[in-house]
Amino acid sequence: MEKSSKFYKKIGIMGGTFNPIHHGHLVTAQEALSQFKLDKVIFIPTGNPPHKIENEVASAEDRYIMTVIATSSNSNFFVSRMEIDRKGKSYTIDTVRQLRKIYGKNSLLYFITGADAILEILTWKNTDEIVSLCKFIAATRPGYNLSRIEDLRKRLFGKAGAADEKIYVMEIPALSISSTDIRNRIKHNRPIDYLLPERVSNYILKHELYK
Ligand code: NAP
Repeated sequence: MEKSSKFYKKIGIMGGTFNPIHHGHLVTAQEALSQFKLDKVIFIPTGNPPHKIENEVASAEDRYIMTVIATSSNSNFFVSRMEIDRKGKSYTIDTVRQLRKIYGKNSLLYFITGADAILEILTWKNTDEIVSLCKFIAATRPGYNLSRIEDLRKRLFGKAGAADEKIYVMEIPALSISSTDIRNRIKHNRPIDYLLPERVSNYILKHELYK
């Protein structure tokens, strides 16, 4: 059973569309849990992503169910419906505010997502407030051009130093797997075996997603 929220101090927030979730996401969450000694990681599939073309995204319910299926065997992974149940566009600021309320001001929130998404953070709603409420873990494939993250740190915080404590980078070889590639493979009847948990690919087949 999940412990009461007051026991948790370091919470990973795994933000993503998860369209669909794959092994790259799972390895990222597990690595963040271990490197940052997090108490748990909450996967939060986006509801209505403000920046996406609607017809390329599986329904929020399907993405939620696939995320639950993929994470069910890990006792440190949880999935939240908070974004998919929220009316209107899915903004990270609303999620972070809500989690701050649940876990209290002494908890540390780590927002984990792809580096490319974090690079856009200046265009997100209430960037300054988000940055004041949580730290970021930018997951990249090895070989990613890190100078862009460095530029972002400078734009957000001025000089390095304190900024290093706010945006961390984690290189994840398994992130050579991508949801876009999986969707393309399905469209062209190419195999998706071993790229994502088998039970998730069965769900995709059964519900004829991404055809
Ligand atoms: P995206 O732009 O679809 O993804 C950018 C890159 O990051 C892709 O390569 C993606 O790979 C990867 N990625 C996404 N989530 C990841 C994760 N949790 N771990 C590792 N890699 C990940 O990004 P998105 O999924 O739509 O959004 C990411 C997060 O940013 C979400 O929580 C979203 O709500 C938030 N966001 C907020 C705002 C706002 O508040 N205005 C705007 C944009 C995004 P895959 O395609 O393989 O996942």
